[in-house]
Amino acid sequence: MDADPITVESIELREVSIPLTSPFVTRYGTEHSKRALLVILRKGELVAYGECVAGIGGSYSRETIASAREVIVRQLAPILLNRSLERPADFLEATEAIHGHNMAVATVEMALWDLQGKMEGVSISTLLAGVRGEIDACVTIGIQSSPGQLLDKLRDFIEQGYRAVNLKIKPGFDVDYVRAVRTHFPNVSLRTDANAAYRMEDPRLIQLDKFELSLIEQPLAQHDLNAHSKLQKKLSTPICLDESIQSPEDARKAIRMGACRVINVKPGRVGGINRSCEIHEFCVDHNVPVFCGGMLEAGIGRAFDVAVATLPGFTVPSDLSASRRYFTKDLIKNEFELTQDGKLTVPTGIGCGVAVDEPYLDSVTISSEILSRR
Ligand code: MG
Repeated sequence: MDADPITVESIELREVSIPLTSPFVTRYGTEHSKRALLVILRKGELVAYGECVAGIGGSYSRETIASAREVIVRQLAPILLNRSLERPADFLEATEAIHGHNMAVATVEMALWDLQGKMEGVSISTLLAGVRGEIDACVTIGIQSSPGQLLDKLRDFIEQGYRAVNLKIKPGFDVDYVRAVRTHFPNVSLRTDANAAYRMEDPRLIQLDKFELSLIEQPLAQHDLNAHSKLQKKLSTPICLDESIQSPEDARKAIRMGACRVINVKPGRVGGINRSCEIHEFCVDHNVPVFCGGMLEAGIGRAFDVAVATLPGFTVPSDLSASRRYFTKDLIKNEFELTQDGKLTVPTGIGCGVAVDEPYLDSVTISSEILSRR
C-alpha cells in the first residue's frame, strides 16, 4: 500500500451539459440534457474525478447543482486543500458537522476514492474487495404517452439484451402500462418506480400488486416511513425505498420499521462510497437485498456505481445501463456496453477505472472554476 497521505493540490469544478439520446420523463418532469457538476482533483500527475448527482431543480432532492457548488467551494474545498488524509473516510469525519448536503459530500468523497485507487495502482472495486467482475444491468424506461409506445421502446431494449426492466410510473400511467408489459413480455424481470407519486389510499397500488413485480420503488412520500410500513403489510410485492434513504441512519430506521424489503443504494445520494458500504453491511446483516441505483449519471458517476455494485449484498439487478442508453456520446473513452447476457463489465483500470475523453468534456463544459491552496 502506498504510504503517501492523500493530499490535493487543486480542485476544479466544472458544470457540463451532455446531450441525451431522447428526453427522459419521470414524475418530476422531462430532462432534455444531462446537467452535472464535476469535481476534478489534482495531485502531481494524478487527476481524479467525482460526479455530483444533484440536478438543476430541487424535485428529487433539496440539493441542486447550485447548492452543491456553494457547499464544495465554501466548506469542503478548504478541508481538502489544507489537510492531508489517510483515507477517504477521514474526509467524512472532517465533514460531520455539515448536514443535508450528502450529494455535495459524495462528489468529493468519491473523487478521493478515485485518487486513492490511482495512488495505489488498483481499481475501486479492488479497494472494496468486490466479489464480481460483471453486474446485472436493468434498463429504466421513462413515462411514455401510451402503453403501445412503451412496448415499442421495451422491445428495442430487450433486443439490445436487457433482461430486467424498471418502469417509471405515476397515477394514470401505471396499471395499463404494467398489464401491457406483462401480457406481451411475461418472462421479463419487471419493476416499477413511482418517485413518491402516490397517496396511501390510492387503489392502483393494490392493483399493481397482481403483476408479480420484483419490487415497487418509492410509492409514497419521501418523509413518510410510517405510511410505507403500513402499505408494505398490504402488499406481497416488496417495497424498495430510494428517495427516503438519504443516509445509513435512514436505512436502519426504514428496515427496523418494516417500511421496505429492498433498498436502492445510490452512492451519490447517501454521501458516497463509505456510507454505501455502511448501508450494505446493515442490509446484509438483516437479510435485506440491495441494488445500486443510477441517477442518469454520465460515465464517471456510473463507474463508481458499478464498483459499489460488486459488493456481495448487491443481489438485485442494479438500476444501471449502458452509456448509449442515455448518451449519444459519454464523457468516457471506454463507454459502458451491455454484454450479450445483459450485464455490465466492471472496469479494471486504476481508480474508478474509466478514462475521461477530455476533448469531449471540454466541448460540453458550461463553466469551470479552479480552487487552489491558499
Ligand atoms: Mg428511484
